[in-house]
Amino acid sequence: MKLSKSIEELEYSQALESDKEAVEWLESNGRKFGQFIGGEFLFQKNADQIKVTNPADSSILAAIEIADDKTVDLAVTAAIKSQKSWYKTGGHARAKVLYALARLIQKHARVISVLETLDNGKPIRESRDSDIPLAIRHFYYHAGWAQLQESELAGQEPVGVVAQIIPWNFPFLMLAWKIAPAIAMGNSIVLKPAESTPLTAMFFAQLCTEAGVPKGVVNIVNGAGNTGATLSAHPNVNKVAFTGSTAVGRAIRKSTAGQSKKLTLELGGKSAFVVFDDADLDSVVEGIVDAIWYNQGEVCCAGSRLLIQASVEEKLIGKIKKRMETLRFGTPLDKSIDVGSLVSDKQFEQVSHLVKSGLKSGGNLFQCEQPDSSKNYYPPSIITDVDSSHPLVQEEIFGPVLVIMSFRTQPEAIQLANNTRYGLSASVWSENINRAMHVAPALIAGVVWINCHNKFDAACGFGGVKESGFGREGGKEGLYEYLKPIQLKYKATNGASGKKASSTSNVQHSTSSEIDRTLKFYIGGKQVRPDGGNSIPALNFDGSISAWVGQGNRKDIRNAVEAARKANGWASKTAHLRAQVLYFFAENLTVRKDEFIKRLMETCGVKKPEATAEFNATVSRIFSYAAWADKFDGAAHDAPYRGITLALPEPIGIIGLVAPDHQPLLAAISLIAPAIAMGNRVVYIPGDPYQNIVLELVSVMETSDIPGGVINIVTGDKNELSTHLAGHGEVESMWCWGDSELNKNIESISVENLKRTWCHENNDRDWLDMNAGEGTEFLRKATHVKNIWTPYGD
Ligand code: NDP
Repeated sequence: MKLSKSIEELEYSQALESDKEAVEWLESNGRKFGQFIGGEFLFQKNADQIKVTNPADSSILAAIEIADDKTVDLAVTAAIKSQKSWYKTGGHARAKVLYALARLIQKHARVISVLETLDNGKPIRESRDSDIPLAIRHFYYHAGWAQLQESELAGQEPVGVVAQIIPWNFPFLMLAWKIAPAIAMGNSIVLKPAESTPLTAMFFAQLCTEAGVPKGVVNIVNGAGNTGATLSAHPNVNKVAFTGSTAVGRAIRKSTAGQSKKLTLELGGKSAFVVFDDADLDSVVEGIVDAIWYNQGEVCCAGSRLLIQASVEEKLIGKIKKRMETLRFGTPLDKSIDVGSLVSDKQFEQVSHLVKSGLKSGGNLFQCEQPDSSKNYYPPSIITDVDSSHPLVQEEIFGPVLVIMSFRTQPEAIQLANNTRYGLSASVWSENINRAMHVAPALIAGVVWINCHNKFDAACGFGGVKESGFGREGGKEGLYEYLKPIQLKYKATNGASGKKASSTSNVQHSTSSEIDRTLKFYIGGKQVRPDGGNSIPALNFDGSISAWVGQGNRKDIRNAVEAARKANGWASKTAHLRAQVLYFFAENLTVRKDEFIKRLMETCGVKKPEATAEFNATVSRIFSYAAWADKFDGAAHDAPYRGITLALPEPIGIIGLVAPDHQPLLAAISLIAPAIAMGNRVVYIPGDPYQNIVLELVSVMETSDIPGGVINIVTGDKNELSTHLAGHGEVESMWCWGDSELNKNIESISVENLKRTWCHENNDRDWLDMNAGEGTEFLRKATHVKNIWTPYGD
């Protein structure tokens, strides 16, 4: 009795990790860093500098130079120069370099961890046991993919030069997440670390030389937001990979619009942590510590919104408060602390300000200690008595602050969890596997953890939906973000000179014996007249009128999107059923073969063999995607934990399809079929000429059991209609084949709700070519992967 009492009363003494090696390394560099370009450390004359400080005591660790525009250009040029030969060295050679990097990081793990903690303020326990081991794992894992690239990723090539911009919350881990997959696939990169945490990146630069990374493959430029802006907008950069705030993600989307760059954005979050009454509440408490107090809550996927089933709310809050009393704050190098310093004075001010101003709208704050600005220490905090519209519930705080709400039923929990503009992650806590596996897919997020939170691994993709951005990092899906299909050389000639259906002038009136035909829009499973009451002639190749088609406007697009929204049940139909519907569609289309061939000949001016080839390829394409519907499935990742991670492809939602101006029948099916096979709903805008052709398909669709609203078609001015579609908040993705002006427009407008875009030059492919016109590339664009982490064992 006496012994246990005295154990309880024992005080912790400090267990400081030594900073000797890290300080020696800083000293050996004169505590001054420039840029790492073309394998050399460069210093500019009279460069502006930024002071790098230790947020725990405000001491100055080093100074870094800010890369100006010329220096950024130098780095991009070095990357261009190295990239082709780096790719040509082959997968095995690259695998050896990545392997060497992993080994070297492992050898220097201690000094890197200490540097990270000095620079960022995070507890040494976390940098030592979490950040750096995970970074090492990324290099090992991607060394493996480099080795397998030629066999497993055939038909793809690297995108070229990649700009990578990372934040300050996981400086070294983010560097590894970005650099490892990019260089494994044969790209060269220019990385910009955050201005407040550049030190471990500079250490990594030195390791690159030692590991035999060829000059120019890895370049690192330092600086603030302006340097990042110059780098991401650089015309010779082929891809931008960004992690940071949603505001800057939007700015990058805007500045890169129309530059034909690939883009991945990993942005903010306000992730739900959902606790059901059958959860193991003691595990839940430890899960909450991991979810919101790990890394001081400076985690994009922090579980910052706790939703508790009402019957256990009081009990759980009591347990959380008790646990909060035991959390220890101290100097970040102390091995026995739980919470360190926020990254900077600025972040401390930001968190303090957000909480203070948020509390004006109500809510009760509970903290066990007071904030301490001299150490940038913000204590673990919970806020109760708030509802879902409260600013602290909606805004990302990016600090150790947990907001708590309750729910009564399972549907209410799902609804509350999804009531956010973000969609990065969520966790579900329940001992009932049926419940957990039902709720996890219903949560709108890129990652869902069951009975755990903040677990990561290189084999499991990470990334968000909605305003949390798009694209994945990690896993096989993450590799495609750094690859593109081997360049298509095609420029369409087949019927590409067709006439736009937009004017009645210079039109020869039809000499055809057919009765005047007016083809209506197809919206919500019905043939619908245009809102504006105007029709325009769709012309045959010889200038005669083939049919009249509606001239759509903003209202028609709105109606089409609304119909698509109402058809959301399509996503939950089984893949088998979607396949059956597509086969039936192909069967019904085949019956009308002769009629479609004749129409293609008249409209596009092609000869019978070409028209027959387009028709046959159309039927075959529908068959292909019917076949894929139940075969493009996910994976079960064997990540290093006791459990399994399910990687499930999910439909994106509503996709806007803007068609090219040639091969009107085949192009329509090549876009519509993969999208709906994966459970999406579409709004289709045909190319400018031959608008009648896709509308001829409507009567086939009507007899093929395709539910109303799954496919919607609006004709009219392609540029105008696609602009309305791209601006619609409920459209989650745009696929566009247009001229460069239209593509730029689509990418700029998509900024509003951070839609993913897939834009192409009108003539970039021959749709008859199986390699270019169909395949898994389309299916990947029609889905995003949700990773569901499911630990097991008692
Ligand atoms: P930012 O998004 O501003 O910074 C992320 C990275 O982008 C940094 O390297 C930054 O440079 C760089 N950057 C800044 N402006 C531009 C630009 N216009 N073009 C290109 N790159 C740019 O995050 P902050 O560091 O300013 O933090 C602000 C808030 O963002 C935080 O309070 C937090 O809420 C959120 N945040 C979210 C993260 C997430 O992972 N979801 C990560 C970090 C922050 P530099 O820092 O050197 O100026």
